[in-house]
Amino acid sequence: MSKKVIVITGASSGIGEATAKLLASQGNQLVLGARREDRLQDLVQEIKTQGGEATYAVTDVTNLDSVKTLAATALSAYGRVDVWMNNAGLMPQSALSEGRVKDWENMIDVNEKGVLYGINAVLGIMRKQQSGHIINTSSIAGHIVGPGSAVYSATKQAVLAISDGLRQEEAQAGSHIRVTVVSPGAIATELTNSITDENVKKGTEQFYNEFAISPERIANAIAFAINSPEDTAINELIIRPTKQVM
Ligand code: NDP
Repeated sequence: MSKKVIVITGASSGIGEATAKLLASQGNQLVLGARREDRLQDLVQEIKTQGGEATYAVTDVTNLDSVKTLAATALSAYGRVDVWMNNAGLMPQSALSEGRVKDWENMIDVNEKGVLYGINAVLGIMRKQQSGHIINTSSIAGHIVGPGSAVYSATKQAVLAISDGLRQEEAQAGSHIRVTVVSPGAIATELTNSITDENVKKGTEQFYNEFAISPERIANAIAFAINSPEDTAINELIIRPTKQVM
């Protein structure tokens, strides 16, 4: 397997962190983005201690300039971008009747616009290279909606639509850019910390305590998509804990 330059947003915890560690251990060069600099510094240090290569840029995916700086960091450190993973996300679920408008705005800004900003920051680079792989993070909630998940599900459905539109456009253009969407079920990360409605948080944490599986499971699936032959695109990965029903 050849060494790749891989950018991951939301790399400071959970799925992003686990994926960064696995891909670095496979000999790739990692460029990590998130807001919490101390976490990114620790992760880069850990990767280097294990003999891997990584750098970071403090990144807020709600700010296009910040996301472009992450792409520029990758170019100046390693000269190209082979894989860009739009992974940053929030899940402050609540009933619409609760009127938590700020939470809705945050989810739209991070989960949906953040993905578009990532695509905008990297697509020109990959077009020029005539190669690349964009990985977007949706969710089981992008496939099904339930009470309390209307806005979160809407943002994750948007990720599915954006990803398939991107896939078709790049296939049509013959740009050799692959697109993958990963749709996880319950994964044991810090995601439930973003829930602001205390009742929803309690219920979700109970569910996660019973069902959630480790973020390394998602990292393994992402590595599989990345390591597939260049002429083959794994377009979607749907991954649930074995015992999760919906
Ligand atoms: P975590 O809360 O552990 O990780 C979320 C990451 O997103 C953190 O690194 C956080 O970093 C980053 N982030 C949040 N806001 C911003 C921002 N404005 N700019 C840059 N980074 C940001 O949760 P997960 O690892 O679970 O979440 C990763 C993705 O997986 C999300 O898109 C989530 O929706 C999705 N997902 C998760 C599931 C689960 O059960 N855990 C199920 C389905 C999908 P920082 O705060 O340092 O900026």
